[in-house]
Amino acid sequence: MDQPVDAAVGWWLQEALAGKGPSVPAAIEPDVESPFDVVILGGGYTGLWTAWWLVDRQPGVRLAIVDRGICGGGPSGRNGGFVHGWWDQLPYLVERFGPDQALRIARLVDESVASIGSWAAANGVEAWYRRGGYMRVSASPAQDGEWRAAVRTAAAVGVPEQYIDLGAEEVRARCASPVMRAGALMPNAATVQPARLARGLHDVLAARGVTFLEHTTASSVESATPLLVRTSRGDLRAEQVVLALNAWAASWPGFRTSLLSWGSHMLMTEPVPSFLESIGWRGGEAIADSRFTVHYFRTTPDGRVAFGAGVGAAGFGGRVDGRYDRDARAEARARDAMLRFFPDLAGAEVVSAWGGPIDISPDRLPMIGSRDGGRVHYAHGFSGNGVAPAHFAGRLLSAIVGDPAGELATLQIVNRSHRHFPPEPLRFTGARVVREALVRRDEVEDAGGRPSLILRAVAAAPRMLGYRFGATADD
Ligand SMILES: Cc1cc2nc3c(=O)[nH]c(=O)nc-3n(C[C@H](O)[C@H](O)[C@H](O)COP(=O)(O)OP(=O)(O)OC[C@H]3O[C@@H](n4cnc5c(N)ncnc54)[C@H](O)[C@@H]3O)c2cc1C
Repeated sequence: MDQPVDAAVGWWLQEALAGKGPSVPAAIEPDVESPFDVVILGGGYTGLWTAWWLVDRQPGVRLAIVDRGICGGGPSGRNGGFVHGWWDQLPYLVERFGPDQALRIARLVDESVASIGSWAAANGVEAWYRRGGYMRVSASPAQDGEWRAAVRTAAAVGVPEQYIDLGAEEVRARCASPVMRAGALMPNAATVQPARLARGLHDVLAARGVTFLEHTTASSVESATPLLVRTSRGDLRAEQVVLALNAWAASWPGFRTSLLSWGSHMLMTEPVPSFLESIGWRGGEAIADSRFTVHYFRTTPDGRVAFGAGVGAAGFGGRVDGRYDRDARAEARARDAMLRFFPDLAGAEVVSAWGGPIDISPDRLPMIGSRDGGRVHYAHGFSGNGVAPAHFAGRLLSAIVGDPAGELATLQIVNRSHRHFPPEPLRFTGARVVREALVRRDEVEDAGGRPSLILRAVAAAPRMLGYRFGATADD
């Protein structure tokens, strides 16, 4: 857990931090401020939004946020910036929680999509929030219609406007790529500059009196009264603790069989505004194909293409090492994919490449809940879709802390039971083999081929074992 942390991995963080000096760790003065009401471990969106909701709910609450690097220096400052709801998750939400609760949860995540924009506007954070919709497309015959069950379920529960079927011509009118076929649109979705949002949250919370302990690694939470948080720069006392550790939770005691960590990698091109004009991609749509090892892409206000691919490696023992920051093989795969979607970008310079860890949960929904007698709370397992869901999770965590018997803290998604992954070394071995099989199966299908029987069998193994990934996505 104690490797050096590069403050500015990737274009978004470099852009957001340009002209700002290095962040200086605040001194730990436990006798002055401890016990804190709440200490939050992890300063990505989950930790930051939890703090925001707590400050909003209880002005004067004594809060500290501890991060091993800078807040937003992990995936929250490096992601694609897609801010979308869970309308594409509806079939599973209905299966798991029933139609009423599924709709309630999906509406709450949708509120998060809107709230992120209104929060940024109200707090003077220029996070490039743009509501251009999220388009999920097919980029090979194997992906055709992947969204249909979700579109049908949205109509069945009374919200047909939230997820809309698009024909090939409608997709083309929004973005003309030679490989994109039909698709579906989530009209309320948005994009942000992810690092500006994370650093903006940090600045607003600092002005509200939250204590930030950056460059400080937490190693354990001991169950004393108050709780004792051990960190690399001293101990802290807290009445309650929130673990907002994302993929790093995969190595935290108690969660080792709850998560897998896989890498996702992104490229940023130089500005290519005339190319965007030539393919009609003017609306700011966030676009993803329908592979399991997804390709996702969006534009920036100055006309760049940010292109991502969920093709990075699996990690052992939940360790998050340098391969998640830079991985030549994954970056080459991302570049090949970008040129498949947009051959005319062959001459465009890629000015930055970076990656980050994804916290995969057994059913690709986050786990949100409490343990250790209700004083330690957690949210992780966003499975590569955490920008809006982390805002939602922060809202639920603040409710769990401040109003544990209230409606939000007792939604069925809170403290839900879930399947577990096997312990190491099986978790790593299985994840690595399945991971490679999934990437290769998706690549063969993209090339118009049919994966071999063995490849299909390995890729389908997780589904057969009850995990919600692996086979051709059908929900
Ligand atoms: C390349 C990439 C692209 C993505 N694209 C999208 C997208 O377009 N849309 C979307 O919805 N989601 C996307 N995601 C996922 C999304 O970024 C995450 O789900 C989200 O940022 C999770 O926020 P978080 O606060 O839970 O985690 P993080 O941002 O990872 O924050 C966790 C923090 O915990 C800190 N930490 C870890 N261990 C310790 C410790 N022991 N002590 C102290 N601090 C610690 C880390 O330094 C880190 O800052 C993407 C992810 C990646 C990697």
